[in-house]
Amino acid sequence: LTEKMAGIGEMLQGKKKITAASVERALGEVKRALLDADVNLKVTNGLIESVRNQAVGKLLIEGVTPDQQFVKIMYDELVKVMGSQQAPLARSTKEGEPVVILLAGLQGAGKTTAAAKLAKFCQERGAGVAPAEEPQPEMKEGEVWTPPQREGPPGKVLLVAGDVYRPAAIEQLQRLGERIGAEVFAPGRDVDPVDIARGGVQYARDGGFDAVIVDTAGRQVIDEKLMDELVKVKGACEPDEVLLVVDAMTGQEAATLTAAFNERVGITGAILTKLDGDSRGGSALSVQGVSGRPIKFVGVGERIDDLEPFYPDRMASRILGMGDIVSFVEKAQKQVSEAEMAQLSQKMMDATFDFNDFLEQSKVVRNMGSMANVAKMIPGMAGKLSQQQMDDAEDRAERADLFISLMLPEERTNPDLLIRDAAALQRQRRIAKAAQVRPQDVAAFISDFQTMRTMMSRMSKRMAPGGDMGGAP
Ligand code: GDP
Ligand code: MG
Repeated sequence: LTEKMAGIGEMLQGKKKITAASVERALGEVKRALLDADVNLKVTNGLIESVRNQAVGKLLIEGVTPDQQFVKIMYDELVKVMGSQQAPLARSTKEGEPVVILLAGLQGAGKTTAAAKLAKFCQERGAGVAPAEEPQPEMKEGEVWTPPQREGPPGKVLLVAGDVYRPAAIEQLQRLGERIGAEVFAPGRDVDPVDIARGGVQYARDGGFDAVIVDTAGRQVIDEKLMDELVKVKGACEPDEVLLVVDAMTGQEAATLTAAFNERVGITGAILTKLDGDSRGGSALSVQGVSGRPIKFVGVGERIDDLEPFYPDRMASRILGMGDIVSFVEKAQKQVSEAEMAQLSQKMMDATFDFNDFLEQSKVVRNMGSMANVAKMIPGMAGKLSQQQMDDAEDRAERADLFISLMLPEERTNPDLLIRDAAALQRQRRIAKAAQVRPQDVAAFISDFQTMRTMMSRMSKRMAPGGDMGGAP
């Protein structure tokens, strides 16, 4: 998926004209990529529709390269689809009562492993009822947030062995509980899971536990009897959280099973496991897209420590492969150092900006993208030039190198020789003849040069320190 997304950016980048048709083509690619990544069709369509609505209007007017604009819109949508913010684990709502967490999911999804990982998480989170989990603060792109470290005694956590069907399930949980020093409530395989859940929660209440985590048997969506049982287990333990454990490799099935569990049992969130594997990423989008419930944690390995809070923005970056996507501003600032810019704008103020500078400058500009894109960066410029005008400008810019190469050194350093008078016309004709073009083509270039001077002057003011696109001091 990541590779495909990168390709889509490149596709748009090469475009001179950003038309509804080119957005459509890019969206077609995105759609294929998402479906290939096993994102549910309904979720995919919703996403595409939303991006289309924003992209078609926006690409034409805003001052960022279209590919980056497009990727940004995609990114924002992905973050939105995945719930925008990190969703913290619930706290107990009742003073002195443990928080009750019920885990559900298919056989082999990683429930029992997740139970132990969560138990460790709750131990580390510590004792006591809310204060509510601190919400993730507003983050700039690329910033990483780590929750504040907590001090105090570890939380007292009870693991409840509710899987009475798989032969070794209870022993597995007991082993894990031993390893992290968490008590395991395991009355045995011949006890009704509903009674185990009820008994476990009661035991945790009486014992002053901070958290109780109920492991359950894996069940197929189609197994009505087991789904019924799960509903009863939920009724018996009145959980604060019902977390659906979803294997990230599940693919298309993730949507179906999320919908089924949510409708049948009702979930409050999900844990996406095995994200360390060769996951195609689609499940992350499907789960929230289908249920409206957030993914709260991700499993990133088989060890007990391999549990992380789920961050929608990081996941979106992972899906888009945006690690190396820099904003247009950053890109522009890299191409044109502030020192160079200051020097150039000084030259423009001194009216010493000449054809040699132009040559240098147009190289930089071409590195940044098309003329059209550059024009869009400049306030007042966007919308005033037609697509045709911008395309023509681009073609003319390509001839600029040729024309300048045919100029005499004194003409390059003193553009006025080509601008002012009848003698200037003679010089223009000479260049036209040598370049095998019409004189008006050279005249057009000279007029372009003057426009360029103005553009560069405005841009340098915007990009200079203190300008609205200026770098940090
Ligand atoms: P359950 O049937 O849902 O209880 O699944 P288990 O917890 O028994 O896990 C099934 C298998 O998946 C085990 O071999 C686990 O070690 C493995 N597993 C669980 N979570 C992860 C994870 O996040 N990453 C990886 N690589 N393996 C995992
Ligand atoms: Mg299990």
